[in-house]
Amino acid sequence: AATGSTRPLAFYDLATDPHRTERLSLMGELREALDHDHLLLHYQPKLALDTRRVDGVEALVRWHHPRRGIVPPQDFIGMAEDTGNIQRLTRWALAAGIAQASRWHARGLFLNVAVNLSARDLEEPELPMRIARLLSIHGLPPDKLTVEITERAVIGEPETAIRVLRGLADLGIGIAVDDFGVGQSAFAYLRHLPVSELKIDQTFVHHLARDATDQTIVRSIVELGHRLGFHVTAEGVEDQAALERLAAIGCDHAQGFFIARPLPATELAGFAFERAGV
Ligand code: C2E
Ligand code: CA
Ligand code: CA
Ligand code: CA
Repeated sequence: AATGSTRPLAFYDLATDPHRTERLSLMGELREALDHDHLLLHYQPKLALDTRRVDGVEALVRWHHPRRGIVPPQDFIGMAEDTGNIQRLTRWALAAGIAQASRWHARGLFLNVAVNLSARDLEEPELPMRIARLLSIHGLPPDKLTVEITERAVIGEPETAIRVLRGLADLGIGIAVDDFGVGQSAFAYLRHLPVSELKIDQTFVHHLARDATDQTIVRSIVELGHRLGFHVTAEGVEDQAALERLAAIGCDHAQGFFIARPLPATELAGFAFERAGV
Protein backbone atom coordinates (compact mmCIF):
# COMPACT_ATOMS: atom_id res chain seq x y z
CA ALA A 1 0.00 0.00 0.00
CA ALA A 2 1.82 3.01 -1.20
CA THR A 3 1.04 6.44 -2.44
CA GLY A 4 2.71 5.91 -5.79
CA SER A 5 6.44 6.11 -6.04
CA THR A 6 7.04 8.15 -2.88
CA ARG A 7 7.32 5.31 -0.44
CA PRO A 8 10.13 6.08 1.97
CA LEU A 9 10.46 2.84 3.91
CA ALA A 10 9.14 0.27 1.49
CA PHE A 11 12.44 -1.17 0.40
CA TYR A 12 14.46 -0.58 3.51
CA ASP A 13 16.97 -3.26 4.38
CA LEU A 14 17.17 -4.34 8.01
CA ALA A 15 20.81 -5.44 7.75
CA THR A 16 22.27 -2.27 6.24
CA ASP A 17 19.93 0.29 7.75
CA PRO A 18 21.85 2.81 9.88
CA HIS A 19 18.73 3.40 11.99
CA ARG A 20 18.32 -0.31 12.58
CA THR A 21 18.10 -0.17 16.39
CA GLU A 22 15.63 2.69 16.25
CA ARG A 23 13.43 0.81 13.81
CA LEU A 24 13.60 -2.49 15.65
CA SER A 25 12.45 -0.69 18.77
CA LEU A 26 9.65 0.99 16.83
CA MET A 27 8.52 -2.47 15.68
CA GLY A 28 8.56 -3.78 19.24
CA GLU A 29 6.47 -0.79 20.22
CA LEU A 30 4.07 -1.45 17.35
CA ARG A 31 3.47 -4.95 18.69
CA GLU A 32 2.76 -3.42 22.08
CA ALA A 33 0.47 -0.83 20.51
CA LEU A 34 -1.50 -3.68 18.94
CA ASP A 35 -1.76 -5.34 22.35
CA HIS A 36 -2.75 -2.17 24.17
CA ASP A 37 -5.10 -0.51 21.73
CA HIS A 38 -2.88 2.44 20.88
CA LEU A 39 -3.84 2.13 17.24
CA LEU A 40 -7.03 3.61 15.92
CA LEU A 41 -8.76 4.11 12.63
CA HIS A 42 -9.72 7.39 11.08
CA TYR A 43 -12.33 7.39 8.34
CA GLN A 44 -12.24 9.47 5.17
CA PRO A 45 -15.63 9.97 3.47
CA LYS A 46 -16.27 8.91 -0.11
CA LEU A 47 -18.78 11.16 -1.84
CA ALA A 48 -21.10 9.67 -4.49
CA LEU A 49 -20.94 12.22 -7.31
CA ASP A 50 -24.43 11.51 -8.68
CA THR A 51 -26.33 11.92 -5.40
CA ARG A 52 -23.71 14.04 -3.58
CA ARG A 53 -24.12 11.82 -0.56
CA VAL A 54 -21.47 10.21 1.59
CA ASP A 55 -22.09 6.49 1.23
CA GLY A 56 -18.70 5.05 2.11
CA VAL A 57 -15.46 5.62 3.99
CA GLU A 58 -11.85 4.52 3.78
CA ALA A 59 -10.39 3.32 7.08
CA LEU A 60 -6.86 4.68 7.65
CA VAL A 61 -4.76 3.55 10.59
CA ARG A 62 -3.35 6.02 13.14
CA TRP A 63 -0.86 5.31 15.91
CA HIS A 64 -1.07 7.37 19.06
CA HIS A 65 2.37 6.78 20.46
CA PRO A 66 2.68 7.61 24.17
CA ARG A 67 6.00 9.46 23.66
CA ARG A 68 6.39 10.10 19.94
CA GLY A 69 2.88 11.48 19.44
CA ILE A 70 1.02 10.59 16.26
CA VAL A 71 3.15 8.35 14.05
CA PRO A 72 1.98 8.58 10.41
CA PRO A 73 1.30 5.29 8.58
CA GLN A 74 4.15 5.92 6.12
CA ASP A 75 6.53 5.56 9.10
CA PHE A 76 5.40 2.09 10.14
CA ILE A 77 3.33 0.30 7.46
CA GLY A 78 6.32 -0.39 5.19
CA MET A 79 8.34 -1.59 8.13
CA ALA A 80 5.51 -3.74 9.44
CA GLU A 81 5.32 -5.31 5.97
CA ASP A 82 9.06 -6.04 5.92
CA THR A 83 9.20 -7.43 9.46
CA GLY A 84 6.17 -9.72 9.27
CA ASN A 85 3.95 -7.63 11.54
CA ILE A 86 1.50 -6.47 8.90
CA GLN A 87 -0.86 -9.46 9.15
CA ARG A 88 -1.58 -8.67 12.79
CA LEU A 89 -2.16 -5.02 11.94
CA THR A 90 -4.50 -5.95 9.10
CA ARG A 91 -6.43 -8.37 11.30
CA TRP A 92 -6.85 -5.59 13.83
CA ALA A 93 -7.91 -3.04 11.15
CA LEU A 94 -10.46 -5.44 9.64
CA ALA A 95 -12.00 -6.22 13.02
CA ALA A 96 -12.09 -2.55 14.06
CA GLY A 97 -13.45 -1.31 10.70
CA ILE A 98 -16.14 -4.00 10.48
CA ALA A 99 -17.21 -3.41 14.10
CA GLN A 100 -17.45 0.35 13.46
CA ALA A 101 -19.43 -0.07 10.24
CA SER A 102 -21.89 -2.33 12.02
CA ARG A 103 -22.37 0.29 14.79
CA TRP A 104 -23.12 2.89 12.11
CA HIS A 105 -25.56 0.50 10.47
CA ALA A 106 -27.37 0.04 13.77
CA ARG A 107 -27.88 3.84 13.79
CA GLY A 108 -29.19 3.93 10.24
CA LEU A 109 -25.95 5.04 8.62
CA PHE A 110 -25.36 2.43 5.90
CA LEU A 111 -21.78 3.19 4.97
CA ASN A 112 -19.44 0.93 3.04
CA VAL A 113 -16.08 0.67 4.79
CA ALA A 114 -12.85 0.14 2.84
CA VAL A 115 -9.83 -1.45 4.56
CA ASN A 116 -6.32 -1.43 3.08
CA LEU A 117 -4.57 -4.77 2.56
CA SER A 118 -0.87 -5.43 1.97
CA ALA A 119 0.85 -8.03 -0.19
CA ARG A 120 1.53 -10.34 2.76
CA ASP A 121 -2.18 -10.41 3.63
CA LEU A 122 -2.95 -12.03 0.28
CA GLU A 123 -0.51 -14.85 1.03
CA GLU A 124 -2.90 -16.16 3.69
CA PRO A 125 -5.36 -18.65 2.18
CA GLU A 126 -7.55 -18.43 5.29
CA LEU A 127 -8.18 -14.67 4.91
CA PRO A 128 -11.63 -15.01 3.26
CA MET A 129 -12.79 -17.39 6.00
CA ARG A 130 -11.52 -15.06 8.70
CA ILE A 131 -13.31 -12.08 7.15
CA ALA A 132 -16.51 -14.09 6.67
CA ARG A 133 -16.44 -14.87 10.39
CA LEU A 134 -15.95 -11.19 11.32
CA LEU A 135 -18.83 -10.13 9.07
CA SER A 136 -21.14 -12.69 10.59
CA ILE A 137 -20.14 -11.89 14.20
CA HIS A 138 -20.92 -8.21 13.60
CA GLY A 139 -23.90 -8.79 11.31
CA LEU A 140 -22.44 -6.66 8.53
CA PRO A 141 -23.55 -7.47 4.95
CA PRO A 142 -20.50 -8.42 2.83
CA ASP A 143 -21.29 -5.74 0.24
CA LYS A 144 -20.63 -3.11 2.94
CA LEU A 145 -16.96 -4.12 3.08
CA THR A 146 -14.34 -3.26 0.47
CA VAL A 147 -10.69 -4.24 0.50
CA GLU A 148 -8.16 -1.97 -1.20
CA ILE A 149 -5.13 -3.56 -2.79
CA THR A 150 -2.28 -2.21 -4.89
CA GLU A 151 -0.79 -4.14 -7.75
CA ARG A 152 2.33 -4.66 -5.61
CA ALA A 153 0.09 -6.94 -3.56
CA VAL A 154 -0.29 -9.49 -6.33
CA ILE A 155 3.28 -9.54 -7.59
CA GLY A 156 4.79 -11.68 -4.82
CA GLU A 157 2.72 -14.85 -4.94
CA PRO A 158 0.23 -14.24 -7.72
CA GLU A 159 -1.52 -17.60 -7.57
CA THR A 160 -2.31 -17.52 -3.86
CA ALA A 161 -3.19 -13.81 -4.07
CA ILE A 162 -5.63 -14.42 -6.92
CA ARG A 163 -7.21 -17.35 -5.08
CA VAL A 164 -7.63 -15.24 -1.91
CA LEU A 165 -9.16 -12.37 -3.89
CA ARG A 166 -11.58 -14.75 -5.64
CA GLY A 167 -12.60 -16.04 -2.22
CA LEU A 168 -13.29 -12.50 -1.06
CA ALA A 169 -15.19 -11.63 -4.23
CA ASP A 170 -17.28 -14.82 -3.88
CA LEU A 171 -18.33 -13.61 -0.44
CA GLY A 172 -19.63 -10.41 -2.07
CA ILE A 173 -16.88 -8.15 -0.73
CA GLY A 174 -15.79 -5.25 -2.95
CA ILE A 175 -12.23 -5.25 -4.32
CA ALA A 176 -10.68 -1.89 -5.14
CA VAL A 177 -7.39 -1.36 -6.94
CA ASP A 178 -5.65 1.47 -5.08
CA ASP A 179 -3.28 4.05 -6.59
CA PHE A 180 -4.41 3.05 -10.08
CA GLY A 181 -2.34 4.47 -12.91
CA VAL A 182 1.08 4.67 -11.26
CA GLY A 183 1.94 0.95 -11.43
CA GLN A 184 3.74 -0.94 -14.16
CA SER A 185 1.44 -3.80 -15.07
CA ALA A 186 -1.92 -2.25 -14.41
CA PHE A 187 -3.67 -3.78 -17.41
CA ALA A 188 -2.20 -7.26 -17.14
CA TYR A 189 -3.56 -7.93 -13.70
CA LEU A 190 -6.98 -6.45 -14.41
CA ARG A 191 -7.51 -9.49 -16.65
CA HIS A 192 -6.98 -11.94 -13.80
CA LEU A 193 -8.40 -10.24 -10.73
CA PRO A 194 -12.03 -10.04 -9.61
CA VAL A 195 -11.86 -6.25 -9.35
CA SER A 196 -14.96 -4.14 -8.65
CA GLU A 197 -13.46 -0.65 -8.26
CA LEU A 198 -10.56 1.45 -9.51
CA LYS A 199 -9.17 4.24 -7.34
CA ILE A 200 -7.41 6.80 -9.50
CA ASP A 201 -4.10 7.82 -7.95
CA GLN A 202 -4.03 11.24 -6.31
CA THR A 203 -1.24 12.50 -8.55
CA PHE A 204 -3.66 12.59 -11.51
CA VAL A 205 -6.31 14.39 -9.48
CA HIS A 206 -4.52 17.15 -7.54
CA HIS A 207 -4.21 19.49 -10.54
CA LEU A 208 -7.15 18.16 -12.52
CA ALA A 209 -8.88 21.48 -13.09
CA ARG A 210 -5.73 23.10 -14.52
CA ASP A 211 -3.96 20.27 -16.31
CA ALA A 212 -5.26 19.09 -19.67
CA THR A 213 -3.08 15.96 -19.65
CA ASP A 214 -4.43 14.90 -16.25
CA GLN A 215 -7.96 15.47 -17.56
CA THR A 216 -7.30 13.16 -20.49
CA ILE A 217 -5.78 10.50 -18.24
CA VAL A 218 -8.63 10.64 -15.73
CA ARG A 219 -11.27 10.57 -18.46
CA SER A 220 -9.55 7.51 -19.98
CA ILE A 221 -9.37 5.65 -16.66
CA VAL A 222 -13.05 6.35 -15.96
CA GLU A 223 -13.99 5.11 -19.42
CA LEU A 224 -11.79 2.01 -19.11
CA GLY A 225 -13.19 1.24 -15.66
CA HIS A 226 -16.78 1.62 -16.78
CA ARG A 227 -16.24 -0.52 -19.88
CA LEU A 228 -14.87 -3.28 -17.66
CA GLY A 229 -17.86 -2.91 -15.34
CA PHE A 230 -15.95 -1.30 -12.47
CA HIS A 231 -16.83 1.52 -10.19
CA VAL A 232 -14.36 4.44 -10.34
CA THR A 233 -13.23 6.61 -7.41
CA ALA A 234 -10.90 9.59 -7.59
CA GLU A 235 -8.64 10.24 -4.60
CA GLY A 236 -6.91 13.46 -3.62
CA VAL A 237 -9.68 15.91 -4.50
CA GLU A 238 -8.42 19.19 -3.03
CA ASP A 239 -10.70 21.81 -4.59
CA GLN A 240 -14.20 22.43 -5.90
CA ALA A 241 -12.98 22.72 -9.48
CA ALA A 242 -11.55 19.19 -9.41
CA LEU A 243 -14.77 17.87 -7.86
CA GLU A 244 -16.94 19.41 -10.59
CA ARG A 245 -14.56 18.23 -13.30
CA LEU A 246 -14.85 14.66 -11.98
CA ALA A 247 -18.64 14.90 -11.89
CA ALA A 248 -18.64 16.12 -15.52
CA ILE A 249 -16.35 13.26 -16.55
CA GLY A 250 -18.74 10.75 -14.97
CA CYS A 251 -16.48 9.49 -12.19
CA ASP A 252 -18.58 7.67 -9.53
CA HIS A 253 -16.98 8.67 -6.22
CA ALA A 254 -14.65 11.38 -4.98
CA GLN A 255 -12.43 11.38 -1.90
CA GLY A 256 -10.07 14.08 -0.70
CA PHE A 257 -9.30 16.95 1.64
CA PHE A 258 -11.82 19.21 -0.13
CA ILE A 259 -14.61 16.88 0.96
CA ALA A 260 -13.05 15.95 4.31
CA ARG A 261 -9.82 14.83 5.92
CA PRO A 262 -9.78 11.38 7.52
CA LEU A 263 -11.89 11.83 10.69
CA PRO A 264 -12.30 10.05 14.03
CA ALA A 265 -15.37 7.77 14.01
CA THR A 266 -17.53 10.14 16.07
CA GLU A 267 -16.86 13.12 13.80
CA LEU A 268 -17.34 11.01 10.71
CA ALA A 269 -20.85 10.01 11.78
CA GLY A 270 -21.87 13.66 12.24
CA PHE A 271 -20.35 14.62 8.91
CA ALA A 272 -21.98 11.74 7.03
CA PHE A 273 -25.43 12.42 8.50
CA GLU A 274 -25.11 16.08 7.55
CA ARG A 275 -23.92 15.26 4.05
CA ALA A 276 -26.49 12.51 3.62
CA GLY A 277 -28.71 14.93 1.70
CA VAL A 278 -26.34 17.44 0.10
P1 C2E B 1 -3.68 5.39 0.63
O1 C2E B 1 -4.37 4.08 0.84
O2 C2E B 1 -3.45 5.82 -0.78
O3 C2E B 1 -4.57 6.43 1.44
C1 C2E B 1 -4.79 7.77 1.05
C2 C2E B 1 -3.85 8.72 1.74
O4 C2E B 1 -3.97 10.02 1.14
C3 C2E B 1 -4.18 8.93 3.22
O5 C2E B 1 -2.97 9.21 3.92
C4 C2E B 1 -5.04 10.19 3.19
O6 C2E B 1 -5.05 10.90 4.39
C5 C2E B 1 -4.35 10.98 2.09
N1 C2E B 1 -5.26 11.92 1.44
C6 C2E B 1 -6.61 11.84 1.34
N2 C2E B 1 -7.12 12.88 0.67
C7 C2E B 1 -6.07 13.67 0.33
C8 C2E B 1 -5.96 14.91 -0.40
O7 C2E B 1 -6.94 15.52 -0.86
N3 C2E B 1 -4.71 15.41 -0.57
C9 C2E B 1 -3.60 14.78 -0.08
N4 C2E B 1 -2.41 15.37 -0.28
N5 C2E B 1 -3.66 13.60 0.60
C10 C2E B 1 -4.89 13.05 0.80
P2 C2E B 1 -2.60 8.41 5.22
O8 C2E B 1 -3.79 8.22 6.08
O9 C2E B 1 -1.40 9.10 5.78
O10 C2E B 1 -2.19 6.97 4.68
C11 C2E B 1 -1.04 6.83 3.88
C12 C2E B 1 -0.93 5.41 3.36
O11 C2E B 1 -0.72 4.49 4.45
C13 C2E B 1 -2.21 4.91 2.70
O12 C2E B 1 -2.28 5.40 1.40
C14 C2E B 1 -2.00 3.42 2.77
O13 C2E B 1 -1.13 3.01 1.74
C15 C2E B 1 -1.28 3.25 4.10
N6 C2E B 1 -2.25 2.82 5.11
C16 C2E B 1 -3.02 3.58 5.92
N7 C2E B 1 -3.77 2.80 6.73
C17 C2E B 1 -3.46 1.50 6.42
C18 C2E B 1 -3.90 0.22 6.92
O14 C2E B 1 -4.76 0.09 7.79
N8 C2E B 1 -3.32 -0.88 6.34
C19 C2E B 1 -2.39 -0.80 5.36
N9 C2E B 1 -1.89 -1.91 4.86
N10 C2E B 1 -1.96 0.40 4.86
C20 C2E B 1 -2.49 1.52 5.39
CA1 CA C 1 -24.35 5.76 -7.33
CA1 CA D 1 -6.14 3.09 0.14
CA1 CA E 1 -4.50 5.63 -2.77
